[in-house]
Amino acid sequence: QPIIELTNVTKVYPNGVKGLNNLNLSVEKGEFVVIVGLSGAGKSTLLRSINRLHDITEGDIKIDGQSITTAKGKSLRHIRRDVGMIFQSFNLVKRMSVLKNVLTGRVAYYNFLKSSLGLFSNEDKLRAYEALERVGLESKLYNRADELSGGQQQRVSIARVLTQSPKIILADEPVASLDPKTTTQVMDDLRKINQDLKMTVMVNLHSVELAKKYATRFIGIRNGEIVLDCPADQITDDK
Ligand code: ADP
Ligand code: ADP
Repeated sequence: QPIIELTNVTKVYPNGVKGLNNLNLSVEKGEFVVIVGLSGAGKSTLLRSINRLHDITEGDIKIDGQSITTAKGKSLRHIRRDVGMIFQSFNLVKRMSVLKNVLTGRVAYYNFLKSSLGLFSNEDKLRAYEALERVGLESKLYNRADELSGGQQQRVSIARVLTQSPKIILADEPVASLDPKTTTQVMDDLRKINQDLKMTVMVNLHSVELAKKYATRFIGIRNGEIVLDCPADQITDDK
């Protein structure tokens, strides 16, 4: 069964703008999907719909066979745990250490009370350390998040999402504010996670070049509709 399945999904914002227009999409486990489109095409709306950061207006979205569209309470939390999300703006707590930023990501999903009290088990710490090791930042455990470069902060946010052990990672313009060198590091991390941990990755990008380099599957979106969907190695420059 598909790991992500959207059936006839429409999202209309309160002001009447249609973010997604009757969109159908099926993603298999292990794919590295890159979504490309102009600003305003509906890329963010698509990712935000998949982990239900907002409700959709019509249609249904299934994560690994379970509908997230109408899920509530514990079952919604359960489905959401499978879907990690990374943003352009990193969303770290600037004054907190790298380690603690990563720990709160894990514990928020398992035990909110523990997280708010700052209590972490050795198991939590081990998982956080492993995740930071995977993105090559194990030497920065005790640095404050805002002491790190933009690229490093984005890799911390990747580590944070890894500790949640998701099946899917959604990344909304994760490299939009980064320079070419750190862009490569962040995209390499995502590729490694996709290949080594078998996590399904779905990334919004502006750059067709990057899409060709990293994706297994390329989706073009315009006016809330999929206008192109093909293996990434079939993308030519005139498309
Ligand atoms: P991007 O094009 O990089 O996705 P936008 O500038 O479109 O970013 O959106 C930035 C933020 O503003 C997002 O949180 C989005 O949901 C919100 N937003 C975008 N367009 C509108 C709009 N017409 N009315 C209200 N909020 C909007
Ligand atoms: P992209 O991520 O491709 O730049 P978005 O998904 O952010 O595109 O936006 C798709 C459309 O929905 C745009 O017309 C945008 O202005 C609109 N939009 C996005 N967020 C909001 C919002 N919170 N309120 C109203 N309109 C929005």
